[in-house]
Amino acid sequence: MYTNSYDQNPFYPKQGDFEIIQKDEKSGYGVISYRSFDKGDLIAAITGEIIHDIRQHSLQIEPGVHLYDIHFSGYFLHSCSPNVTLDMKNMRVYANRKIKAGDYLLMDYAQTEDVLYRQFPCSCGSKNCRGWITGKKQPIDESDPLYQTFIQTKVAAV
Ligand SMILES: [Zn+2]
Repeated sequence: MYTNSYDQNPFYPKQGDFEIIQKDEKSGYGVISYRSFDKGDLIAAITGEIIHDIRQHSLQIEPGVHLYDIHFSGYFLHSCSPNVTLDMKNMRVYANRKIKAGDYLLMDYAQTEDVLYRQFPCSCGSKNCRGWITGKKQPIDESDPLYQTFIQTKVAAV
């Protein structure tokens, strides 16, 4: 999936094994896996441009250092019950539970990100859904109009 301008690594994701597709209007684009994986399996090695700002599709390697991978990992969707774990030090993605062919690769953005490009209401539907998603070192931005809507919807649902 990475273009030829990158170095060659047999563990990079292969065309045909994965695809970036639009899941739905609400979730946007995600990465679907056409291969199954067992818990603990290496899914792929990742690469991209190293940048020093936070962008919509960047993933944090360490504070102030981010990977901008618009061919694969930058499009993982968020779930509060993720099926992948990222090792950003070694640039590897692992299955943290069984993944069936046809499943989306789902990460928890708070696993890697101290601060998100944008906080958002989660629609992952898992039992332990946190509802409003922030980076792991980031307070809720209560002035965010989306957060106001999220809170009102929550109050209305009770
Ligand atoms: Zn969630």
